[in-house]
Amino acid sequence: MPRESFLKPVRLKLAQRAAYRCAFPGCNRLTIGPGETADEVEDTGKAAHIYAASELGPRGQGTLTPAQLRAITNGIWMCGHHADLIDKNTGKRYPVAVLKSWKALHEYRTAYEHSGRATAFGFVRSMTIDASPLFAPVTVAFGKTTFLIGLNKSGKTALLDWLSVLDSPRRLSRWMKPRPLHFSLLFDAPGEHKLECDTGNETVRFDLDGHRVAFNHHRIAITTLTKRRDHQSQDDLTNIMNLLHLDEISVRSLAALIHSDTMYLRAARFESEADDDGEVREVLHCTLQSGEEMPFGILSGGEQGRVIMEFAIAHMASIASVAPAMLVVERQSLGIDSAGFALYLNYFSSGECQFQTVVTQFTITDDIKGLGWQVYQLTAPNPTTPGTIEAVLPS
Ligand SMILES: [Zn+2]
Repeated sequence: MPRESFLKPVRLKLAQRAAYRCAFPGCNRLTIGPGETADEVEDTGKAAHIYAASELGPRGQGTLTPAQLRAITNGIWMCGHHADLIDKNTGKRYPVAVLKSWKALHEYRTAYEHSGRATAFGFVRSMTIDASPLFAPVTVAFGKTTFLIGLNKSGKTALLDWLSVLDSPRRLSRWMKPRPLHFSLLFDAPGEHKLECDTGNETVRFDLDGHRVAFNHHRIAITTLTKRRDHQSQDDLTNIMNLLHLDEISVRSLAALIHSDTMYLRAARFESEADDDGEVREVLHCTLQSGEEMPFGILSGGEQGRVIMEFAIAHMASIASVAPAMLVVERQSLGIDSAGFALYLNYFSSGECQFQTVVTQFTITDDIKGLGWQVYQLTAPNPTTPGTIEAVLPS
């Protein structure tokens, strides 16, 4: 069986781009230094494969060609210990999406340190739940895109409530109950930070990097996208404002930012129009890639889902150009078909997309199989056993 090893120049460049430091989060170990004699160098790092070098190796080979498997894009620089660790158990704990995110994170941080340049880069690495009313203790590692799979009442919303404290503690109010909740979040904004959260009866306590604080002062902007079918207004502007939790001026300036040759919408604009009763409302006019212009109201449910998704993407992309951002998408609520959704999955995993995404859905769909995404399956608690959150490798 052939092994697609990295050639020397690829290995060297990978090491240099990592500043010879291990890319495993929290390690950062230096992998180069003086050797035994005056003219020797000791290099202890490893160019680890993201997709496997051999057919039956950890994480598999995806659909990569031999040349792609040997390319620098398929490598991540690590110390010996972590290079071995990520390959244990067929790499199940460290899927492709996670390793790619770590590499990007390490290279961003190295570039930041190297140039002294300010960067907007932010990244939520993991959430560790020590005690909760729902789940057994667990650590959830986030990739650039992370899928949370579970049926209703499996605890997806709870997990998102807890994660949202990185943006604001607002959603924590329903967790200030007698049953203890203690979790911590590791994130970069762009420095490394740890936020710990402890709730009890009517109380909440936050510790940020060991200091007691009122809320997270290294904020990561989190938008949760869910298309609520109830309380829909006749006014498109009001609907988008409600969906994105934004004010009127922000939504109008967001519409002006929408222009794409690849997404569903080419452009969008609001216009005041009077209906038959003389009532004035704001109508969203959507210019599609075909050049055709359609009012939002006559689009199908799935098409409206795409418009809403693209407003959210424009919103997050605009934040991510200057500050850390994360988009949370409740996939089922948007009603976008899988062909339509594929476009967004492609975008989320691309280098063009600068924000992190969490997608929640009921079951593992074909489009997330075999792509190396970070996927967690949630199982609801029952009266005798706590709920679980388990990393899965969909196949
Ligand atoms: Zn290491």
